[in-house]
Amino acid sequence: MSVPLESDREPFASAHELRGLLQHLQRCGVTLLPTSAVVAAPPPAVADTVPLRAAAPVPPAAPPGAELAPPPVFGQPVAPAAVAVTPPLFAVAEPYQGPSLPLAERVARLQTLAAEVAQCPRCEVLACSRKNTVFGEGHAAARVCFFGEGPGADEDATGRPFVGRSGQLLTKMIEACTFSREQVYILNTVKCRPPGNRNPDPTEIANCRPYFEEQFEIIRPDYIVCLGLVAAQTLLNSTLSIGKLRSRFHHYRGSKVLATYHPSYLLRNPNAKREAWADLKMLMRDMGIAIPKS
Ligand code: SF4
Repeated sequence: MSVPLESDREPFASAHELRGLLQHLQRCGVTLLPTSAVVAAPPPAVADTVPLRAAAPVPPAAPPGAELAPPPVFGQPVAPAAVAVTPPLFAVAEPYQGPSLPLAERVARLQTLAAEVAQCPRCEVLACSRKNTVFGEGHAAARVCFFGEGPGADEDATGRPFVGRSGQLLTKMIEACTFSREQVYILNTVKCRPPGNRNPDPTEIANCRPYFEEQFEIIRPDYIVCLGLVAAQTLLNSTLSIGKLRSRFHHYRGSKVLATYHPSYLLRNPNAKREAWADLKMLMRDMGIAIPKS
């Protein structure tokens, strides 16, 4: 008896054969078969297409001055973005030393350190040109520290971190995470303003490292959010770009470290706020904080 070739056979020779095929597909987990109408349907509109990966939407170019009303506002819902569950690239492994301090002792030690910083002569150029040192401020037992680069003109004038335009945006970012500035701690890599808002040089960062390391030692936050490349590379001893460092947690001693864009970069590039907000949502999820609806 000749056996027909596959191409010679009817697609489904009988109801029995068809039933067998359907039972096989069901065992394989197939619960829905497309109809010819679906197959023939036109592709969905772009707006209905769900990307397989968290490809960031490409918004239109921002008009001049758009940074004054930047989209999106932190805290507003945005298109869902996948959170990469990836291992840390960097880990500063030594744990914080000794027992955690009571709040009053933390406050006292931070005050003593701030007084020392206010007299610091280690960087000749910065020490001569500064109006004020900018030590940092916030809660001495904060769960989250926001770690920036260095003081600008407004900060130099007031002695407080992040009080200019980028500071206002940082406040919005903090509040979008359901915190207030008083509940977190804000500090910088260097405590004196580099002239002309240049980046601090490696020697200045090395000079100031013992100060921020002691601040973290005293506060022992659960999380450190590095704002921008200088802060992230300094804390993690990394040379990678911020694009490679963000979207995952790293470790510094007992703290989880998240890197995101500096608020001043976000003011210049408002479209990057979408990614920064994704970073902050990743932080909130890890902290067990419900992400605000609006
Ligand atoms: S930047 Fe830091 S190390 Fe340099 S002078 Fe200022 S406080 Fe001292």
